[in-house]
Amino acid sequence: MGAVRLRLATPTHVADLRGATVCELATPDQVDAVIARLGPDPLRADADPDRAWRRIAKSPRSIADLLMDQAVLAGVGNVYRSEILFRHRVDPHRPGREIRPQTWKALWRDLLLLMPIGVQLGQIVTMSDQVDAVLAGDFDPSAVPTSPTGVSAWRPNPHGALERRYYVYKRQGEACRVCGSRVRMADVAGRNLYWCGRCQRRR
Ligand SMILES: [Zn+2]
Repeated sequence: MGAVRLRLATPTHVADLRGATVCELATPDQVDAVIARLGPDPLRADADPDRAWRRIAKSPRSIADLLMDQAVLAGVGNVYRSEILFRHRVDPHRPGREIRPQTWKALWRDLLLLMPIGVQLGQIVTMSDQVDAVLAGDFDPSAVPTSPTGVSAWRPNPHGALERRYYVYKRQGEACRVCGSRVRMADVAGRNLYWCGRCQRRR
């Protein structure tokens, strides 16, 4: 089945489902079985980061690859992958088994911070100054409604969207905002990974 795009629209709200590869009717038992195959979802209050860590800590696959694997961790898309690895200066090519536990804890904590902001704003925000502005209340996340399912219900923001800028995402060839060296790009797990080879050395 190809990629499904679904748009749910009302006169004032639009919700887009993008990139889903399967869309089918399921019984509650089938839904439970699907969820059981997924890694913890940072947007769920009951998510257990240790479940993801147990898989990461023994894996020879790179952390950038693992972050895109829904069986390891649910819901982290390509933008967050590149951006959180940069935020923590983590080498994206390090095998999961070489990642330090405290690095994983920091990445997880960051996802718990960033992903709800993204859902509420309907916009991925990763740059520290913008995150700080959101948290300081310069931009009111509660002004942007979310649907009861937790899926973001996008609408034109009355405050105007934040400037769309990232540390590394889609900035290949441009200067790293921190060190000035060129941002790199490579295909990892079927999607383009962006990173700074000079800044991102941690494991
Ligand atoms: Zn850099």
